[in-house]
Amino acid sequence: MNDIPFSHNPSLNANASRFWHPMQSPFELAEQPPLEIVEGQGVHVVDSRGRRLLDATAGGLSNVTLGYSAAPIKEAIARQLEKLPYFSSFRGNTNKPAEELAGKLIDEWFRDDGMARVFFTSGGSDAVDTAMRLSRQYWKITGAGDRYKFIAMRNGYHGTHFGGASLNSRPAIRRAYEPLLAGCFHIPVPLPFRNPFGEADPERLTTLCISMLEEEIQFQGGDTVAAIIVEPVSGAGGLVVPPPRFWPELRRVCDKYGILLVADEVITGFGRTGDDSGSRGWGVKPDIMCLAKAISSGYFPLGAALVNDRIASAFEQDNGPIGIVGHGYTYSGSPVGCAAAIATLDMYRNLGTTQLSRENGQALVAGLEALKPVCPWIGDVRGKGLMACVEMVAEPGTNMNANPHMMMAIGDATAEAGVLIRVNGSQLLITPPLIVTREEVETIVDAVRQALAQISN
Ligand code: PMP
Repeated sequence: MNDIPFSHNPSLNANASRFWHPMQSPFELAEQPPLEIVEGQGVHVVDSRGRRLLDATAGGLSNVTLGYSAAPIKEAIARQLEKLPYFSSFRGNTNKPAEELAGKLIDEWFRDDGMARVFFTSGGSDAVDTAMRLSRQYWKITGAGDRYKFIAMRNGYHGTHFGGASLNSRPAIRRAYEPLLAGCFHIPVPLPFRNPFGEADPERLTTLCISMLEEEIQFQGGDTVAAIIVEPVSGAGGLVVPPPRFWPELRRVCDKYGILLVADEVITGFGRTGDDSGSRGWGVKPDIMCLAKAISSGYFPLGAALVNDRIASAFEQDNGPIGIVGHGYTYSGSPVGCAAAIATLDMYRNLGTTQLSRENGQALVAGLEALKPVCPWIGDVRGKGLMACVEMVAEPGTNMNANPHMMMAIGDATAEAGVLIRVNGSQLLITPPLIVTREEVETIVDAVRQALAQISN
């Protein structure tokens, strides 16, 4: 529609620099005006220059799973606002939407993952911190108070509260906030394309990473570790689809040492990877699941931490003064957020989005794979369901991180071709709404093809 790349959008709205943008240097913001989105229609967004872009980022952060025109969610929010915009769910208070949503999450979605109870939050970082706090409390009330440590993966991303941020791995989002929470440790990720062992074989790499995990547990003392917290497919910290044996091995090691397994499903929950939960895709039942994003298709800030029977039964006894869940957010169980989520989950079931994600995801990854001959700077293509990435490299045949200017140029060129993708370091992250059609998947692949052909010339 026009040829102005979004990274140099001259229509800088002065107000955009009056607020500090998450994950952005205020200095760079002045240099590089933001992309202003003014409207959304179906799976498309319209920017302030009038460009209509197919949104292959699902709202920028993989959350707008049902696109922008999901009338049932909007109506549910409006109805609930009219009836009861808010009342606390602390202590003895409750509301119907929160009760109904808890029932749906357990009975219709995550019973097969072993989940038994729900704790509502306002988003993903809250859900992760809830999982960390409930894990520690679980061990205190069961008489193993020495278990306070957490183990996570390098490359993981678990939000920005001090708990989740302490599990994160990228120095750029850790250093400025150190010292972080004591007792958080990290192990290597089983990414065949790039790992500290130079091991490209997924099976051998799994064995190596799991033995590093066990070594770390033994080094820390197996009876000091509260939980291992991992994303079933990692997203924001760098898209990693672990080899199939990795998650079952994680579960085995957790069981061996009695450690809780927390699945951070903030991105992977509700069909993103082609199964209702990412854990189920690996055939593993975690002890706690963190959910957010897709729970309300991005229409209202909401999240949840779900726990299994093992944890529920420990908490549902008289544990004296340490038995109270001394944790909660003003918007835990917000009636409007829960009403939005109920409508969202019903739409998923009516549309069969989990199945759609699996089928269209295969087409997406296959289409991106087929681009390898187009561009020698493609280092790797990987994905599961509608969660995919193209990893670019600085020099063909290596796994060196790509030049940021090249990545910016690819992002701009893809947008010029009518598709919005997310550039994350050396990766092109593609996580469209779960309702994209096969044709739209082809449009996304084609836009990436055009952008890569352009930089290859
Ligand atoms: N965990 C994961 C796996 C995430 O991807 C995110 C957000 N991208 C979070 C936690 C934090 O969620 P929120 O931004 O809603 O606080």
